[in-house]
Amino acid sequence: MTVYNFSAGPAVLPKPVMEQIQKELPSLQGSGMSILEISHRTKRFEDILDTTKQDLKELLQIPDNYEVLFCQGGGTGQFAAVPLNLANHHRKIALLDSGHWASGAADEANRLGYTVDIVGNTKANKYQSLPYPDQKLSGDQYDYLYATLNNTIEGTTYHRDILPEHNDITLVGDMSSNFMAERYNVNDFGLIFAGAQKNLAPAGLTIVIVRKDLIHPAAHTPKMLNYEPYVKKDSMFNTPPVFPIYVAGLVTKWLKDLGGVDEMEKINRKKAAVLYDYLDESKMFKNHVAKAERSLTNITFSTGSDDLDAQFVEFATQNGLMSVKGHRSVGGLRASLYNAMPIEGAKALVDCLHQFEQTH
Ligand code: PMP
Repeated sequence: MTVYNFSAGPAVLPKPVMEQIQKELPSLQGSGMSILEISHRTKRFEDILDTTKQDLKELLQIPDNYEVLFCQGGGTGQFAAVPLNLANHHRKIALLDSGHWASGAADEANRLGYTVDIVGNTKANKYQSLPYPDQKLSGDQYDYLYATLNNTIEGTTYHRDILPEHNDITLVGDMSSNFMAERYNVNDFGLIFAGAQKNLAPAGLTIVIVRKDLIHPAAHTPKMLNYEPYVKKDSMFNTPPVFPIYVAGLVTKWLKDLGGVDEMEKINRKKAAVLYDYLDESKMFKNHVAKAERSLTNITFSTGSDDLDAQFVEFATQNGLMSVKGHRSVGGLRASLYNAMPIEGAKALVDCLHQFEQTH
């Protein structure tokens, strides 16, 4: 039985990448040492880090006035790092509360003593649509406007053509769950961050792309969260997450060979349409997000009955379709269709949904 892994993260990695890891694991590039063993101070690893960074710059068309940092601590680490580095002028942040992870970011900035104004929220409709600012925002008032670009749990996305208005304010985007899955213009953002464990690598690496002039860390910022040492020492002031960076290098190469982010987006649109088209016709399973705001990478749906949803999870698992249960905070069902998920996976899921619908 072919197994497809729809987990929201850590998540499926490209098959050719898995095969290369397996092949190279005992001896990296003929060195007689594993990537799990070599020092980060070796030329071999420095080359891996440099190439991975260059490939990210190329794939995402990152302009020269931005830094690319390899951090640890996940998205949650950035909930603290972003205000500590970027919010020390006004100590005031405007935030769009689009769901679980956005409110997590608000809580963390608050806890650190920053003022967070929720300038839009869609709590009342259970975050099934995206909030937009209820007022004209300005950089004279706020250090930045914070948005969660892809809401992993709720299945909504600020795609590049529906970003919140940011003419007079710096936009910060949490891209954890749609990193390199669709095209954005980096120039629209002052900062983008993404945990790697969905579209790039195993857990343990977080990518930060930040405009150089915005970095002004608070004096008490812990070194691990302070962007300055990362910039000065090329993300190597302490031991970086060697293995996830190595895998990120393989995944960026895989993505380049495939044709880059634009090509990936085309594939992801086709893949997501396989599932959305089915859901739009289904009498049993429904997705409640407006078409323009639908995520390409995290697709939420439900029968409307907890019991029937649970039965479907069981049925899918028996058929090799893993991790289709919705996040514990919202329930229902969710399929994550990240870059490495082949279109056959989406088709297999639709076949399974159809079969279940016929028999229940
Ligand atoms: N932001 C988003 C959009 C996420 O999906 C997640 C995790 N799934 C996080 C932040 C938190 O990331 P981490 O678990 O890496 O701390």
